Amino acid sequence: VFAHVVKAPEDPILGVTVAYNKDPSPVKVNLGVGAYRTEEGKPLVLNVVRRAEQMLVNDPSRVKEYLPITGLADFNKLSAKLIFGSDSPAIQENRVATVQCLSGTGSLRVGSEFLARHYSERTIYIPQPTWGNHPKVFTLAGLSVKTYRYYDPATRGLNFQGLLEDLSSAPSGAIVLLHACAHNPTGVDPTLDQWEQIRQLMRSKGLLPFFDSAYQGFASGSLDADAQSVRIFVADGGECLTAQSYAKNMGLYGERVGALSIVCSSADVAVRVESQLKLVIRPMYSNPPIHGASIVATILKDRALFHEWTIELKAMADRIISMRQLLFDALRARGTPGDWSHIIKQIGMFTFTGLNREQVAFMTQEYHIYMTSDGRISMAGLSSKTVPHLADAIHAAVTR
Ligand code: PMP
Repeated sequence: VFAHVVKAPEDPILGVTVAYNKDPSPVKVNLGVGAYRTEEGKPLVLNVVRRAEQMLVNDPSRVKEYLPITGLADFNKLSAKLIFGSDSPAIQENRVATVQCLSGTGSLRVGSEFLARHYSERTIYIPQPTWGNHPKVFTLAGLSVKTYRYYDPATRGLNFQGLLEDLSSAPSGAIVLLHACAHNPTGVDPTLDQWEQIRQLMRSKGLLPFFDSAYQGFASGSLDADAQSVRIFVADGGECLTAQSYAKNMGLYGERVGALSIVCSSADVAVRVESQLKLVIRPMYSNPPIHGASIVATILKDRALFHEWTIELKAMADRIISMRQLLFDALRARGTPGDWSHIIKQIGMFTFTGLNREQVAFMTQEYHIYMTSDGRISMAGLSSKTVPHLADAIHAAVTR
């Protein structure tokens, strides 16, 4: 009965790793998926995560019972505080409904399923370009996806004018997906002043912000600085949604820990919204897993562990920033044609190199460097040992 099923293509991002794993070359480098690697090229489990896990293992009162549909209560409260700030009026006024979800992706999915059921406007505007999974998540949730201009290939920076024009002509009430920081794939973020202009425009048109926060702390090394965009919107008392992921900033990729927060107009509305979120979640996966959320809650509620986390997080962010400088210097040293300053200007895990599909294919074939076909490279996957090889490959690709 399944003989008619055709083979689906690999996922454009995760498929890069599949191809990488098949390559026997000793010099191969995987810059596809956005996962942090150490200077030795190894995955990193944060010390603070190991410590928190040890505490959990040694606590005999810990059991493996089901969590509530909404997840671990402590985790939810602490996650809202982390993104909105501990002095956020929305939190103090109990206007935030937070539910633990399956990392950032699950939070986006639950949020958009909720919107498709309960929000008046079904259109969501996403930046062009954006993370490849966004349109799929929103479409499957029942939203209709449109794009707004975001990136200007000529400047390799923000197309702010285009962004404002497109949001101005969006129908009032439309949902707008915003990357809270470290825009993926471009590494280009609005300045605080531009965020304020976006806020004014969106609020004046009644556009609903849906923030995707997958990199808090990873962009600048500061958890507060990376949450400014979200906090600017929450400070005006208006509504918004936020999908948070702990994949990158705590290195909990496979634990699938995240949270969806919906900031509402009153405490009463938040209670009703939460009750409806439960109806979205229950038939989808019943309730979320306990282990990862317990790690996060343990770290967020303990002053010393929290402090240790911020230090390890900053070290990851700093290593990425230093890779930007190394790569930039290496291209300069080779006299590679072109202006590569965007490598040091862009923010977060990725550099949107500007290399085209053919150049990417050439680099994979000749240099065993794996990256997405849009020319995005994960700076977190680089080390001082692999930068020269990458610079050679880029040089060869652009001078071919
Ligand atoms: N949003 C963006 C912009 C991302 O880059 C990612 C991870 N690549 C996610 C959401 C979701 O990741 P996860 O589900 O692993 O938290």
